[in-house]
Amino acid sequence: MPAGSAPELLSMLPDGQGVRVARLAADDFWNNDSAPERFCVFNAERELLHCSPDLSMIDGGVLPETQRGQNTIISEWRIGEVDYLLGFWRARCLPTLNSPGFIVMVATPKAEALQDLSRYREAFVAAVLLACALAAGLAIGQIRRQMQPLERLQDSTRRLSAGDLQARANISGKDEFAQLGRAFDQMAERLAQRFHMLGLLSELDRVILGSSERLALISTLLRDIHRAVPCDGVGLVVFNADGEGKLFSELAEGKGEALCGETVVRVSDLPEFPESEGVRVMPPGTLPQAMLDALFRRPVAQLLVFPAHLKSRLDSLLLLAYATPPQNLDEIAQSGRSLADRLSIAAANIAREQMLYDQAHFDALTQLPNRLLLRDRTEQAIVHADRTETSVALLFIDLDGFKQVNDSLGHTQGDILLVEYGARLRQRMRQGDTVARMGGDEFVVLIPDLARDTAYATVDRIARALNEALAEPFQLGEQHLVSPASIGIALYPDNASSHEELLKMADAAMYESKRRAPGGYCFFTSNISELTRDRFELTQDLRDAIQRRELLLHYQPKVDARSGRLAGAEALLRWQSPKRGLVSPGVFVHLLDEMGLSIWLGEWVLDQACAQMHAWDQQGYPPFPVSINFSPLQFERTPVLARVQAALDQYRLQPDRLELEILESMAASESPTVRENLVRLRALGVRIALDDFGTGFSSLVHLTQVPADILKLDRVFTRSLCTETRQREIVELIISMAKVMHLTVVAEGVENEDQRELLPRMGCDLLQGYLVGRPIAPDEFAARWLAAGPSEETSAAWTGWQGPSDARMR
Ligand code: C2E
Ligand code: CA
Ligand code: CA
Repeated sequence: MPAGSAPELLSMLPDGQGVRVARLAADDFWNNDSAPERFCVFNAERELLHCSPDLSMIDGGVLPETQRGQNTIISEWRIGEVDYLLGFWRARCLPTLNSPGFIVMVATPKAEALQDLSRYREAFVAAVLLACALAAGLAIGQIRRQMQPLERLQDSTRRLSAGDLQARANISGKDEFAQLGRAFDQMAERLAQRFHMLGLLSELDRVILGSSERLALISTLLRDIHRAVPCDGVGLVVFNADGEGKLFSELAEGKGEALCGETVVRVSDLPEFPESEGVRVMPPGTLPQAMLDALFRRPVAQLLVFPAHLKSRLDSLLLLAYATPPQNLDEIAQSGRSLADRLSIAAANIAREQMLYDQAHFDALTQLPNRLLLRDRTEQAIVHADRTETSVALLFIDLDGFKQVNDSLGHTQGDILLVEYGARLRQRMRQGDTVARMGGDEFVVLIPDLARDTAYATVDRIARALNEALAEPFQLGEQHLVSPASIGIALYPDNASSHEELLKMADAAMYESKRRAPGGYCFFTSNISELTRDRFELTQDLRDAIQRRELLLHYQPKVDARSGRLAGAEALLRWQSPKRGLVSPGVFVHLLDEMGLSIWLGEWVLDQACAQMHAWDQQGYPPFPVSINFSPLQFERTPVLARVQAALDQYRLQPDRLELEILESMAASESPTVRENLVRLRALGVRIALDDFGTGFSSLVHLTQVPADILKLDRVFTRSLCTETRQREIVELIISMAKVMHLTVVAEGVENEDQRELLPRMGCDLLQGYLVGRPIAPDEFAARWLAAGPSEETSAAWTGWQGPSDARMR
């Protein structure tokens, strides 16, 4: 069949009449307008038989090679501008039909054919995206669920490490994250507590170091303890030395102020807390309920009690209260202990500071305020007086006979007397007055707040009452002692404008009072001011005098009472002042004492006297003893024996050439140093004379125990000897007693013939006095007494000294 030619159908006509050829009208046959698809029909040789109009461009075309013999194959083919998808179908004809068949090619524009597919593809992408998004969303959700707790933990850790102690993970639930979170929170909680604990401890240390205010410590403790130690309530009991405890508890929670409760509990109300016990866990019933009620608002199931001790006495109790027994008991116990230890340290600190303050401001012996505190109080009183237009009075009180008491009865008794004195003064004064001890036997009474118009009258009354009170005998052991005091008074603003001035004026007035008559009082006046100035000047001059060597010794003879021969001399101090003339020691010896020069003076006199004896020896005069006046201080503060020995050696003197005159009161002293020295000096051969005998405090019985060789009867006895029988009897008694003791008796102050006559008859051995001879300079003494024989002044015969060396005067 030729190309393009229609298929033909050959059929045998009935009865073999021929063959019928039927030819297919191709276009009509294939043309099918109603067919939706475009198609082409090829014959078996792939020659085009028919094509839908759209595909006409392949008119005359031949089926592509690749499609040959294939069936239902889809392939792409570009026809004109359009891509087509092609499908082939090979149609076989019935054998009756003389045709190998056709190939039908259906063509659909690719776009059209794949339209669904691409729609599907689009939908698929969206679906995939959606699925992905969904998956991602789910994944994130899941991840979130896992990551969030971790993040919180991480965040909290970061905050915690940055110092935010409030950082908590707060993860709820039951999974591992929640467990981890809870563990973290617990750790953070403890960390915070430890941190607060450290903070609290260092804060307490700061408070302890910074102030001695116990209240500051208590309020810090009560304010901050909750953050440092887990507890439901805190209480503190602080005991004083008498065992009375004050209660401190927190004010309304969180207010952080310490509340000082009124309720007072006593140590004796509580069970004992030994010092070794760090903490005690106590059920509330074991402590007084009233105390617990005052300390805690809520009911308490358990208490941890931490005792703090000060020098073995219970100082305070720290109480931690719990509504339910706490879990981490060990840790709490440790923290509580550290805090209680701070309370102990603070208590010790306060005690030490108090002690230091007391040491600095109170006199150790009498416990009265000292100089320093007196100044404070006077200055306050002055400020107050200015504001209120009142007056302040300062009374300077000096004991009159204290030196003797100290010398004769010993320092212990002297101290007791001072304490008694202080107590007596304190007793007489009002609460607002200050009684201070200035040192030694000086006291000061400060009276503030006096109405100006009646100030003098008031103080006058007070001073008189004090004089009377102090004149009452004191009981010292078995002895009754009368030791009055002199009082000097100065007033602010009348006499002075400052504390120093006030004190100076009162002191000056006291001196004046003593000068007039011991045991009285004296108000400051302007002429006292002059006296003070004089005294000041004298002190200045005396200082110069020592530098310029204006001090010297005069010698007063002592003669045998019967023969009138020279028996010795007393060296007496003089000051040859260019301004004042010859000044007697009564004027300035006490000033040397005040200047702290008494030791120096003693040694100087010892040296001078020995040097003088040596000089006289060198000049060939027969040896005689010289006595020097020795002050008690020399026995207490210097190695007397060694000094004396050295002086004797230096000037090559026999020990019996030297006599030491000491006050009777000192010889009777109970001080072991004095006694020991006296005994040793006597053993050496130096003789001891009891000076001013009869004026001291020692009884005659006492005398029997005194290590001495000579008794010097005081001038007052000599003076009244011839006029008062009573005195004479006493002197007789003293002399007979001295005889029993083998003491040589010297009468001092012999001024008239009656005395000179009477004394030897009474048993007196030696005489000394103006009648015999006045104290004179050494050259004069040598001239009058050693070289030329007795002066005309004395009727006594020229005599030699009846000493162990049998030397005679020329
Ligand atoms: P005293 O030891 O009792 O010395 C005797 C004093 O009586 C001397 O006074 C002397 O001049 C004075 N006197 C002597 N005879 C008579 C008299 O007939 N009538 C009167 N009314 N007085 C007479 P002076 O020298 O002024 O000494 C006074 C006191 O000073 C001494 O009393 C003594 O306690 C002390 N003193 C003197 N020299 C020294 C010394 O070197 N060292 C020390 N620490 N004190 C001394
Ligand atoms: Ca003397
Ligand atoms: Ca004397």
